[in-house]
Amino acid sequence: MNPVADRFIRYAAVSTASDPDSSTSPSSSRQFDLLRILETELAELGMADVFLSGQGVLYARVPGGNSGDVIGLIAHVDTSPESPGEGVKPQLHRNWDGSSILLKDGVEIDSAECSDMLRYRGGTIITSDGTTLLGADDKAGVAIIMETCRWLIENPGIRRPEVVIAFTPDEEVGRGVDNFDVDRFGADFAYTVDGGEVTEVSSETFNAWSANWKITGREVHPGSASGSMINAVRIAGELIALMRSEEMPENSTGREGYDYPLSVKGTTGSAEVKVILRDFTAEGMAERRRRMEAIRDCLSSLFPGSQIELTMKEQYNNPGEILEKDRRLVDYALEGLRRCGIEVREGSIRGGTDGSRLSFMGVPTANLPTGGELFHSRREWIAEEGLMIALEGLKNTLIIWGEGL
Ligand SMILES: [Zn+2]
Repeated sequence: MNPVADRFIRYAAVSTASDPDSSTSPSSSRQFDLLRILETELAELGMADVFLSGQGVLYARVPGGNSGDVIGLIAHVDTSPESPGEGVKPQLHRNWDGSSILLKDGVEIDSAECSDMLRYRGGTIITSDGTTLLGADDKAGVAIIMETCRWLIENPGIRRPEVVIAFTPDEEVGRGVDNFDVDRFGADFAYTVDGGEVTEVSSETFNAWSANWKITGREVHPGSASGSMINAVRIAGELIALMRSEEMPENSTGREGYDYPLSVKGTTGSAEVKVILRDFTAEGMAERRRRMEAIRDCLSSLFPGSQIELTMKEQYNNPGEILEKDRRLVDYALEGLRRCGIEVREGSIRGGTDGSRLSFMGVPTANLPTGGELFHSRREWIAEEGLMIALEGLKNTLIIWGEGL
């Protein structure tokens, strides 16, 4: 196999699921298993300033470099806790003919569901055995960055910028840059290598807010409840009924936002409903928040005597405007991929990334593809050739930073 695919398969086998219920950093100590392997390998490659922090952020610098800007490359070592991630056994499907791939437990990957899979017909598709996710999100990014470092060190004559790298923990539980030291990292601009299809460079994400509801009713024995019970369960149901179904995630795509009722729990006396709001524009987000307030007022008048508390909090913001100020970050990446002979486009990520937060911490960060798809599921897959295209695209991008367009 190509070295980047070999490397990916080796990293995928190391369990690194993050844990949303833990308050430690990193959230699971198993993330150190991979971080320590990477720390050793970076030193063996000849990287400078290799440093693994106590909270699980690994930094390093490629020695040399000769243009003014310092470019950072970032990937996360954790895998999503949404699917089993213990004991990943990567499977190779060589000479893939384009038909469905059947794995254990009836898990089936159908190319018709994936936007970019048929590109790899005749090549090698990598999946899990069906009992776990694969972890291409984001060990593919880790492997691509490691191979990029090796290439830079082995080819000191390349005209290129100074390159620094970082591997982060806990991206999947939204805490990837909680302990990130921007000064130690030292980049002027950065790329997360954490995207999907090779055809897309992402320059924006949602604005994201949470809207948490606490509903207090009145408990009365149902036999004598007439005229006095206030059922918080009913209020929670009404709340969700008042949300617009055409604005739910299952009915929203592309640059459309959504309102997503995430969880409901409750009894007659009290109920809690968690909702998240997503929108690419600030005006759209303001409208979604006004809508939540209108629902609160409506419920209060529908259920007199109930108490309805709505708490809305900002989670992350769209870095699109920051990236728009200096187009090189996105334009160079698009051109880098185009030089691999593929058609590319600038896209919007329908989710948050370390990059959206880093952009607001002073390091404008765009997101590059890895080639994987169906992340966070047991159907996750990546093609050997996709990994190779993503790697070549990144190398080309660094050359463009050194030489100009
Ligand atoms: Zn990821």
